[in-house]
Amino acid sequence: MFDNYEIWWVTGAQLLYGGDAVVSVDAHSKEMVEGLNKSGRIPVKIVYKGTANSSREVADIMKAANNDNRCIGVMTWMHTFSPAKMWIHGLQQLNKPLLHFHTQYNAEIPWDTMDMDFMNLNQSAHGDREFGHICTRMRLRRKVVVGHWSDPKAQDRIAVWSRVAAAWADSQDMLIIRFGDQMNNVAVTDGDKVEAEQRLGYHVDYTPVSELMEYWKKIDSADVDALVETYFKEYTHDQALEEKGSAGYKSIWNAARAELALRAILKAKGAKGFTTNFDDLGCADINDPNFVGFDQIPGLASQRLMAEGYGFGAEGDWKSAALYRTVWFMSQGLPKGCSFLEDYTLNFDGANSSILQAHMLEVCPLIAEERPRLEVHFLGIGVRKAQTARLVFTSKPEKGVTATVVDLGNRFRLIVNDVECIKSKPLPKLPVASALWIPMPDFETGAAAWILAGGTHHSCFSYDLTPEYWEDYAEIAGIEMAHINKDTTIPTFKNELRWNEVYYMLNKSLC
Ligand code: MN
Repeated sequence: MFDNYEIWWVTGAQLLYGGDAVVSVDAHSKEMVEGLNKSGRIPVKIVYKGTANSSREVADIMKAANNDNRCIGVMTWMHTFSPAKMWIHGLQQLNKPLLHFHTQYNAEIPWDTMDMDFMNLNQSAHGDREFGHICTRMRLRRKVVVGHWSDPKAQDRIAVWSRVAAAWADSQDMLIIRFGDQMNNVAVTDGDKVEAEQRLGYHVDYTPVSELMEYWKKIDSADVDALVETYFKEYTHDQALEEKGSAGYKSIWNAARAELALRAILKAKGAKGFTTNFDDLGCADINDPNFVGFDQIPGLASQRLMAEGYGFGAEGDWKSAALYRTVWFMSQGLPKGCSFLEDYTLNFDGANSSILQAHMLEVCPLIAEERPRLEVHFLGIGVRKAQTARLVFTSKPEKGVTATVVDLGNRFRLIVNDVECIKSKPLPKLPVASALWIPMPDFETGAAAWILAGGTHHSCFSYDLTPEYWEDYAEIAGIEMAHINKDTTIPTFKNELRWNEVYYMLNKSLC
């Protein structure tokens, strides 16, 4: 889906140095953009939009960027000195993410041949400072990447930003559907949906489960049969489950029907994510002869839809549903996977103290260490206490990052924690998918900092995304990021939260 997007590259220059200089600036810029595109490291195509030599030209490019749906952000670079007053009007109007690339056409100084003509042309060392100054004076949020354009390190930092900018564009046109409401009385998963749309872009709608059931009624049983076959091909399972007419087969069949119904309504509405509530599954009485409802919590469906890229939040948690979609979107093509997770239970074990991450059903199989196992077990929670299909697995023992967004009443806070997943153990009496992690810098500090920041018990975890993704996301969104990592200490972190409180109060545009 990165194919639908492009990044616009604008080179800053001016006409002071004559027509030859402008021709060279143009040729160099084309070569650099081509080099970045050919590096194979940046998933979004960069499109060279020419040099900007005047205030009018800058404003025209920025207005065009705003109005082009393919354009997810603008990259700027000052080849020559580009007096920054000419950028003011354009930058005032730009409403897309901005990346300032501080680079240079040539890598090394040509010591023996460098003359004043060369210097007039290759001025980014000071031209980019002039540009940076006006951005800072205008309080513009942006990313600054420094490095030679052929350097993979610089390219990778642009790649991170391009993924975040694409996910940002995706979230500006994102519908999240809540089937049912929040789980009653829960504070942290609730929040201001109006503010979310203004600040983060996505729209949250309510859809009654009865409407979902209209889709459920129309699901063709041959399609269900086929999906059940797919399950048996994709996941390890007891052979007994394949026995048609058995209770286990019936549970899996019903789970497949629920998946088809959910996918059908999400597609029909153009939704990119959804929430469920275990107290709202359609008809309450499973013995009613006119029963129209899910016989079980559609956990297997949620697991598989998450893997497909649909945002998901349990118990009506629409903020997590939207954030998970963004995590999945940013991670496309990256190898290790992501999931919605919940802090489940603690394991006090000295220096290896850790937190089991799971959910009663809904953990995304993308993070599985091995092929997931399809199982059916009794689940005694919610309106329907029933035999319930699910994928069971443990997760890769590797480092990752987890994130959540909370509503503080006057604004959103993004909380990010570096974590280390360690080898988990099977849970024979609790057959759910899980991960087991130590939050950085250690269990006691990491968990305390998360709690002090007001973090949820739900979070969106990824092995592939680094904190840099979240820095870029928070910068684009204009929200606070509280990052808990190997260097975090509680006194410093508490002060950071206090100072941020004042910063965001003073910056009304960010609240
Ligand atoms: Mn939960």
